[in-house]
Amino acid sequence: MNIRTRFAPSPTGRMHLGNLWIAFLNWLWTRQRGGKIVLRMEDIDRERCRKEYEEGILEDLSWMGLDFDEGPEGTYSYGSAVQSRRYDIYGTLLSDMEKKGYIYPCYCSRSRIHQVLSAPHEGEASPVYDGHCRNLTAEERQAMTKQPCWRVRMEESTVSFIDLFYGTMTRTLKAGADDFVVRRADGLVAYQLAVSIDDGDMGITHVFRGNDLLDSAPYQAWLIDKLGYHVPTYGHLPLLVDTKGIRLSKRQQGITIRELRNRGYRKEDLIGLFLYLAGGLPEPKPVSLREALEDFPFEKLPDLKKKHIILPVS
Ligand code: GLU
Ligand code: ZN
Repeated sequence: MNIRTRFAPSPTGRMHLGNLWIAFLNWLWTRQRGGKIVLRMEDIDRERCRKEYEEGILEDLSWMGLDFDEGPEGTYSYGSAVQSRRYDIYGTLLSDMEKKGYIYPCYCSRSRIHQVLSAPHEGEASPVYDGHCRNLTAEERQAMTKQPCWRVRMEESTVSFIDLFYGTMTRTLKAGADDFVVRRADGLVAYQLAVSIDDGDMGITHVFRGNDLLDSAPYQAWLIDKLGYHVPTYGHLPLLVDTKGIRLSKRQQGITIRELRNRGYRKEDLIGLFLYLAGGLPEPKPVSLREALEDFPFEKLPDLKKKHIILPVS
C-alpha cells in the first residue's frame, strides 16, 4: 500500500504546541513507513486566514525539520494543495451533487444554522437540524428571497470507519438531524465538504488529527464514500490540554512555537517532550528527529491511546 497522509493546518494563527504535536506524530508515523506527506493549507475561511500565519507554519515546520512531499505550493494530479485555490473543484462537485439530488437548499434563519465553515472542535456547538427544508416545493423555493445554504439529503445509513486508536467505529446517520451543511449561504464551502473532497482527491490513506474531530469523521466517511473515493483509516490523537484541562488552542493564545524558540528551546527539546508525553520516555530529554525515527516506533508510544494528555508546563 502506498501510504499518504496529510497535515492540514488552518492559517488562523501562529502554531502552538498542540498543532506541532499533531504535525510531529503524523510525520513520525508516516516516515517510519516510507509514506508521503501532503501539507494542505485549509484557508477556505478567507476572513480568519492570513498569509503571515501561513508563512509562520512553514517556518515552524522547517525549524523542527518536519518535511513534507507535496504542497502547499505546486500543482499535482489533484490540483493545488491550498484550499483557496480549489474553489472550482468544490463548485463542480457541488453542482454534480445538486443534479443527483444529494443536496438541497435550506432557507432557515441564521440562528438555526450553526457556524460550519471551521472545523467543529470539542466544546463548540454541534449542528442540529430538523429537516425543515427537505421537502420544499419548487414554488416554495422560488418564493424565498434570501440565499440558501446547502445541506446533504441524508437517508438513514450506517457508517463504519477504522480508527487506529478507537478501533472500528460505527454510527447511524439520520435523515434531517444529520443533514449537515456543505455550502454556506454566503457561498463559502463548509469544512466538512472541503476536507472530504480533499482527503479523497489527494488519495489520503491515513488521517491523523486531534480527537476533537472524531465526531466529524462519520460525516466525512459518509461523504468520501458517496463521492466515490476510498475512505481513509483515521488516527484521532489525544489532545494536549493545560493543567486545568483546557485545550491548547491558538484561539486562546497558547504558547506559540515562535515564543518557545525565542525562549531558547531547541527542536530536540520539543521532540523529547512529545515522546515523553506520548509515554515513550520516563522523563523529557533531548531527542533528535533521526533518533525519534529509529528508536521510537509509533506503536510503542502507549499514551497515544489516551483522550487527553496534560502538558505539565504553563
Ligand atoms: N484544518 C483543521 C484545523 O486546523 C483540521 C482539519 C482536519 O485535520 O481534518 O482545525
Ligand atoms: Zn432549512
